[in-house]
Amino acid sequence: MSTSPSSVPAAASDGTRPGAPGGLPGSAAAPEVLQVAGLRVAYGGNNALDLERLSLRQGEVLGVVGANGAGKSTLVNAIAGWSRGTPRVSGTVRLDGVDVSALPAHRRARAGLLLVPEGKLVFGQMSVDENLTVPGDVHDAPGRHVYDREEVFELFPRLRERRGHLGSQLSGGERQMLGIGRALMLGPRVLMLDEPSIGLAPRLVSAVLETMRTLAGKGLTILLVEQNVRAAIEVVDRLVLLERGRVIVEGTASEMRDDPRIAEAYLGGGHG
Ligand code: ATP
Repeated sequence: MSTSPSSVPAAASDGTRPGAPGGLPGSAAAPEVLQVAGLRVAYGGNNALDLERLSLRQGEVLGVVGANGAGKSTLVNAIAGWSRGTPRVSGTVRLDGVDVSALPAHRRARAGLLLVPEGKLVFGQMSVDENLTVPGDVHDAPGRHVYDREEVFELFPRLRERRGHLGSQLSGGERQMLGIGRALMLGPRVLMLDEPSIGLAPRLVSAVLETMRTLAGKGLTILLVEQNVRAAIEVVDRLVLLERGRVIVEGTASEMRDDPRIAEAYLGGGHG
């Protein structure tokens, strides 16, 4: 298995990925894996999210960006069936065409809808090895690969070096890798990441994000919430800009790089 992030192809100028012709992961002919419609979340009288529709094709990386409080976490939490507090949630979430909206979070996770939350999915008092021991009752299924510990180590060699350390002793970047590793061991169909770059050194930000490209190249569908638009736009196929819970603009990475709402507010007025 090739695990070198540097071997990941960059986006072509038309926003497509080289080597991804029709039918291959992420292309327009790939099946829609996740479909969200009419998703609304309100806390008391405040609408935190009001989303008409959003869909992801197999092998696609969709970035969701926006300022603090735009509703990014609310979106991935609602898709995963998680809630902070007691929001009112309505709308439909379909995974491979199956409506999972009525399922609690743990059943959506079993179905392959996995969220690595902000703050990660790591047990501080357990070693890296122990963190990478997940219940053995998940198995490969069409479109789902259950990673084993060795495969996680191939993807993130740093974790192998730190395998005896406690979760609490890891750096932010290592914890992020561990959280992603744990999610991969649960056989994701869709992997959602909430701000994976937070607190990471710039070198690690690109390494972690480019690993998402590697995973997408193997057919994994990824929803990436990021504040670091400059880094995210390098690895996503499409980007959605949220403001006050609504989609303001959406397009391919290259379209969005040229969109003034993205360029001026998030890329410092140019392509950087
Ligand atoms: P950040 O990057 O700061 O996490 P975000 O884009 O992820 O921002 P959300 O955390 O989804 O934004 O918040 C969206 C809106 O919902 C905000 O107005 C926020 O104040 C509100 N909100 C989020 N969680 C709660 C909660 N538990 N109770 C009340 N309001 C909430």
